[in-house]
Amino acid sequence: MGGDGDLRIGVLALQGDVSEHVTAFEAALDARSEHHAPVVAVRRAEDLAGLEGLAVPGGESTAISRLIDKNRMRRPLLEFGGGIFATCAGMVLAASEVHDPRVDPLGLIEMTIERNAFGRQRESFECDLPVNGLSHPFHAVFIRPPVASRIGPGARGLAVLEPGTVVVRKEPHLALSFHPELGTDLRLHHLFLDGL
Ligand code: GLN
Repeated sequence: MGGDGDLRIGVLALQGDVSEHVTAFEAALDARSEHHAPVVAVRRAEDLAGLEGLAVPGGESTAISRLIDKNRMRRPLLEFGGGIFATCAGMVLAASEVHDPRVDPLGLIEMTIERNAFGRQRESFECDLPVNGLSHPFHAVFIRPPVASRIGPGARGLAVLEPGTVVVRKEPHLALSFHPELGTDLRLHHLFLDGL
């Protein structure tokens, strides 16, 4: 890996809030280096070439799971050597086990995921979340979030909100139940970029 100026990041652009992720990573890379490669939208296997990191956005994990196969992206994603920044539906897809047969997860992080884990009464909410490794809480926006109910060896839970873990680190991957791309606090983006 070269310096920060060389970091190349993509966003899986099959479904979900792709443009918000592109904008947030552009801002994070701008803060690190005046000259950086543009963040790319990844739709085909070829788009992954040369990337160090890939954001898998929030959206609908059942739809993204289906589109991964339809677009013949499963094997390229499994063979991708870089880090995955997995948010919300992306966290569901990064898991090894999901209690929903409509999602065929990629198994990039050994963890078990419960989709929509906070139930209908609390579908969307915001809170100031203490995250291990961050000096002050992260204002987190949750939208029908999943949680990890089990984390395998080698992965670490960095934040918990009952009923489960909402930030999971397995270097170089980072999985988040919430949506850091919707705010201006880029500390989690930098944590991810630091680990690439
Ligand atoms: N509940 C959605 C799912 O499991 C995720 C919601 C989101 O990404 N905001 O796919």
